[in-house]
Amino acid sequence: MPLRGMPEAGRRAVLAGFGMAGFGMTGAVTAAAAPPASPAASTPGPPPGLPPASSAAAARAVEAARDAILRLSREVWTQAELSLHEEKSAAIHLRELEAAGFRVTSRGTSGIPTAFVAEWSAGSGGPVIGYMPEYDALPGLGNAAEPRQAPGPAGTGVGHGCGHNMLGAGCTGGAIALRAMMREAGTSGTIRVYGCAAEETEGAKVYMARDRLFEDCDAVLAWHPAPFAGAGIVRLTAVDKVRVMFHGRSAHAGIAPWEGRSALKAAEMFGLGVQMMREHILPSARMHYIYEQAGAAPNVIPDFAQVWILLRDLDREKVGTLTAWVRQVAEGAAMATQTRAEVIHFFGMHDLLPNEPLARLLHRHLAAVPIEWTEEEQAFARACQREAKLPEAGMAPQPLPFLQEISAGGSTDVGEVSYQAPVGVFAWPTMPLGVGLHTWPVTACGGMSIGDKGSLNTARVLAAAGYDLMTDAALREAARVDFRARRGDRPFTSALPASQKRPMGLPAFMTRTGDDEMVSGLQPDTGARNGG
Ligand SMILES: [Zn+2]
Repeated sequence: MPLRGMPEAGRRAVLAGFGMAGFGMTGAVTAAAAPPASPAASTPGPPPGLPPASSAAAARAVEAARDAILRLSREVWTQAELSLHEEKSAAIHLRELEAAGFRVTSRGTSGIPTAFVAEWSAGSGGPVIGYMPEYDALPGLGNAAEPRQAPGPAGTGVGHGCGHNMLGAGCTGGAIALRAMMREAGTSGTIRVYGCAAEETEGAKVYMARDRLFEDCDAVLAWHPAPFAGAGIVRLTAVDKVRVMFHGRSAHAGIAPWEGRSALKAAEMFGLGVQMMREHILPSARMHYIYEQAGAAPNVIPDFAQVWILLRDLDREKVGTLTAWVRQVAEGAAMATQTRAEVIHFFGMHDLLPNEPLARLLHRHLAAVPIEWTEEEQAFARACQREAKLPEAGMAPQPLPFLQEISAGGSTDVGEVSYQAPVGVFAWPTMPLGVGLHTWPVTACGGMSIGDKGSLNTARVLAAAGYDLMTDAALREAARVDFRARRGDRPFTSALPASQKRPMGLPAFMTRTGDDEMVSGLQPDTGARNGG
């Protein structure tokens, strides 16, 4: 489903805004690799028309919560933490939520030590609207809030190159502002904030969804940093993550190679087998892998090798077919090399189901928030672009028109939520035009006023949309009807393998307290990296 009437650059920019970067946004399923976004290709949005009534009230509520939102954005940026290590970042969100009157209903949610749920309710039996702040950072992307590559507050090791400090501040800030709006208007309902740890690796949302934590929501909202503002009917792929390990027998490769059986040869044959699959899989499928371990020295027959492969396609059923085939390829490679294959299917996610009424609601609200940049901010953006050898076009001036149909090869743990409740997501500019996620300019802009505006403005959009959903039963029903039509009547089945009790990447220091049942089912750590 190619995007109609939208330049490739604009489409790519909006796709980049839906949380897919952690899973390798390498291009649209229905299109070849896209060129970098350029300002000439961006299409100005239509005149937004009259802002929705809740927009002004949301602006006032966000202004009242301004200090809390900026603390969230800046503190989480300053002490950036990796997926599954976000202890301080989660604590910052909980501190601000509790100070704003929310009750923490769950910590270490669904076995993820840095996930949480917080809630605020008025009246009884009202709607339930969820928000999904994320707060994990990325390795190697620490940067100062300067328009050049320079070490950040904690060096270069970890940084918010996907902008989750702003994503989190906008979502939690939106929830705090919505509470104030509801109190002022005497509105009944429940605001639930899901602390969505580890989006970049083994997303907490997937574990939360397995525990059915989203099923009673009328809608769940989030946004993602991007070079543009936009919303639309966006589909992303389902994915399985699989580790294939081969066990062989070592020997001296010069003196007695016949005594060994090479795990590396098995891994190579596995890779070849995956290439042999390619002609016979659907055009929408994606298979990509790396050799994580492939021996230590050429004169030692490797007795161990490890491959990490991702399988993607349009839905769970298609991905399941791929994963089953890949298992057979691993067994075949082991048989041919007289080694043993061990296949660990450790993570999976559903495709992202769009929701048109929610996307239109968010688009109306984001179009009602002015996108304004100072000359200093535009100069900062142009300097980033100059350093990154991109056209010096500055920041996006206005939102993209509503996007009718986009389908891309990336994946997000928001997809899992989209099979349990209607989900609305949108993109907001926090990085210069042409800049991709998971790069140093994203970190740089996230720690200065461009990022602050992203956190504040998205809180406005999210609070206003949340208020409309709390107060408009017909809107909630429209979102529910669209959700049912896209999902069908089948009951939700987690994309996680039943055997996977906890994320593989949980750090040892978080699992050391042996009497804690929360971590009792933990899988042994293979010592391998666990990034998305
Ligand atoms: Zn992200």
